[in-house]
Amino acid sequence: MKFYSTQQQSPPVDLKEAVIRGMPADKGLYMPELLPRLPESFFRALPGLSLPEIAWHVSRPFLAAALDDAAIRRVIGESITFETPLVAVGEGVYALELFHGPTLAFKDVGARFMARLMGRLLKSGGPTVHILAATSGDTGSAVAQGFYNVPGIHVTILYPSGKISAVQEQQIATLDKNISSLEVDGTFDDCQRLVKSAFLDEGLRKRLLLSSANSINIGRLLPQTFYYFYAAGQLARRGRPLVFSVPSGNFGNLTAGLIAWRMGLPVSRFVAAVNANATFPAYLQQGTFHPAPSIPTLSNAMDVGNPSNLGRIVDLFKGDVNALRRMVVSRSYSDEATRRAIREIYRHHGYIPDPHGAVGWLGLTDYMRETEGQSIGVFLETAHPAKFGAVVEEETGRRLEIPPRLASFMGRKKTSRPISARYEDFKEYLLSLE
Ligand SMILES: *Cc1c(COP(=O)(O)O)cnc(C)c1O
Repeated sequence: MKFYSTQQQSPPVDLKEAVIRGMPADKGLYMPELLPRLPESFFRALPGLSLPEIAWHVSRPFLAAALDDAAIRRVIGESITFETPLVAVGEGVYALELFHGPTLAFKDVGARFMARLMGRLLKSGGPTVHILAATSGDTGSAVAQGFYNVPGIHVTILYPSGKISAVQEQQIATLDKNISSLEVDGTFDDCQRLVKSAFLDEGLRKRLLLSSANSINIGRLLPQTFYYFYAAGQLARRGRPLVFSVPSGNFGNLTAGLIAWRMGLPVSRFVAAVNANATFPAYLQQGTFHPAPSIPTLSNAMDVGNPSNLGRIVDLFKGDVNALRRMVVSRSYSDEATRRAIREIYRHHGYIPDPHGAVGWLGLTDYMRETEGQSIGVFLETAHPAKFGAVVEEETGRRLEIPPRLASFMGRKKTSRPISARYEDFKEYLLSLE
């Protein structure tokens, strides 16, 4: 299987190139050349398949040209290591809980799989690949955890000093072995600038093999298709049309759902639920896209005014906005509505959502009410509520336990190294890795 650039200005590449390089030279996004429809036998067997078995059937068409079956099974075995349970939240409504990984956010699914996949694609004994990642919090912790102990890869995470939460810092800054972290005396934008400067530094790139692991990597999207099939399998016996509501920021999760749909996922509609960052619903309404600066909200992992996966969605529908509108509806919700939803979901259904999941629930239940159909609805629960404990405790009046997995990071010794926001200092650090 080859992967093409959505900008069509760079040549198609194989899986290894797409995953290690991350982004084509023409600044487009890599997409698989084919989205093969899975056979009827797969869908018949689906209700009885586990998540790793689903991963095998769904990912094999994309990976088979680059990895043998044993290697594919190992990537899956090492990365799909936690459950994604479906939990009933009222009649015909389900939460698909994606937060049971090591950093308690759904980004664990994509980051772990991409990391193990990269590890397998690199030849053993080849030069070390250096991953550079700037983070404002969540992505960095999932990436650091995902790459921990993967041979052939060294990861440097840059985070702004004093500007990420204590829990996030513990997850990023206490790892050893192949993970290093830099506590930058500056902002998140400074961290991003340092990483960008390194990628543009030809002299440096002659000496170090650099790669990125950001959310546009196709290696992160493929595994996010698995849980859509899993949920559909669990609900297949109900025989009712299925709607997925996806709380969205960079729209990677929604893109994965659409890829699954092209591969035969039985779904009647997607709801793209967003917070006050509402450029996507405006695009569906107007037919033209206008990016905007991001607005801070309670569901802060979705504070994105210019979603990085939009190019893939446009590409999937060949730019036909009407076709996109038939498959995807989109709604925006304020922080006030999000708080009210957390209260209501807890009071009426005894379920405790996080703010991102609450936005997903709002989008789903509004859609179901408006269409008065017979559909079954699934909203994706993308973070553990304890990660947003303050807001959730205020609205539910319940004390939230910090899960043991998260608590186990607390109190570990910080190993990050403080560094200025000057590129010369960052470059000196990088050359010391040679
Ligand atoms: C990243 C993230 C999202 C948004 O996912 P996208 O794929 O960027 O749309 C939603 N919820 C949580 C908790 C996240 O970390």
